[in-house]
Amino acid sequence: MFDAAIIGTGPAGLSAALTLQIHGKQIIWFGAKPICEKVAKAEIINNYPGLPAISGADLAAQFQAHADQMGLTVTEQVVNSIIPMGGHYALSAGADFYEAKTVLFATGIAAAGTLPHEAELVGRGVSYCATCDGMLCRGKNIAVICTAKRLEHEISYLAELAAHIDLFALYKDCGIDLPNVTLRTEKPQGVLGEERFSGLTLSSGETLEADGLFCLRTAISLNTLLPDLQTQDGHIKVSRNQETNLPHVYAAGDCTGRPYQYTKAVGEGNVAAHSIIQALAE
Ligand SMILES: Cc1cc2nc3c(=O)[nH]c(=O)nc-3n(C[C@H](O)[C@H](O)[C@H](O)COP(=O)(O)OP(=O)(O)OC[C@H]3O[C@@H](n4cnc5c(N)ncnc54)[C@H](O)[C@@H]3O)c2cc1C
Repeated sequence: MFDAAIIGTGPAGLSAALTLQIHGKQIIWFGAKPICEKVAKAEIINNYPGLPAISGADLAAQFQAHADQMGLTVTEQVVNSIIPMGGHYALSAGADFYEAKTVLFATGIAAAGTLPHEAELVGRGVSYCATCDGMLCRGKNIAVICTAKRLEHEISYLAELAAHIDLFALYKDCGIDLPNVTLRTEKPQGVLGEERFSGLTLSSGETLEADGLFCLRTAISLNTLLPDLQTQDGHIKVSRNQETNLPHVYAAGDCTGRPYQYTKAVGEGNVAAHSIIQALAE
């Protein structure tokens, strides 16, 4: 059992991971590698103390070097759901389960929102995990929504199982070229189905019928991740100590609200780490 599970490899997650590591806590850190992918996108940063006019790419490289130097390792998985276990939490990521005494959301702002009616049909034809649910689509016609090139291996895996895939690749330069995959240019607008998923409404005004839907995103909506987590205007409600409404669950960075800034993310990650250390001591 880990002392803390940190979800997100942005500045907030890094800051918390560093402090927890220094205090000798057993952590598991979920997210993308290399870390701080959003930082790398900034052309020039003028408000990070001590590093005037640093490029985003250089700051991200510094963050990565700091993590490496401290011996931090990233578990390169998207967390799909968090289940309260009465005293601790189980986290599902891909086909794996992990247990932790405390959980820190450092998930940033949810860039890819869920489609209308999607959340209601999760587990009833809508899936977030190709590895877990791929077998269910064997021989079927499915739709796949994918938000990042680095998840394309999951599409290839699904294509080995499904009869046909309608693929909505919501990123540039899709590299999937398989005989049973049709690359759609329309945007999915909503999810159809009462008891089970039955199809998608599209930006063209048409309807696409399918047996199942796989949503391959780099982030999962907060309410899907942990349904009882209290949110306000799309952000996680936290106390001054970065505590959420749920016991031993904390949040830091952009996911707690504006301003969306590195220094706020780093500061909140540090405060959350200290709250976690205190909670573990108690
Ligand atoms: C182009 C650009 C320029 C910017 N310039 C500045 C600037 O000059 N100054 C400034 O202060 N700020 C700037 N920002 C804002 C800054 O990037 C953010 O405030 C900061 O990155 C927030 O850090 P964070 O750790 O909260 O979230 P993020 O950096 O967004 O990191 C969150 C991470 O969590 C991961 N994640 C989410 N859900 C899951 C899940 N379920 N499982 C696993 N991983 C998950 C995401 O993939 C992401 O990697 C800029 C942003 C952009 C896009």
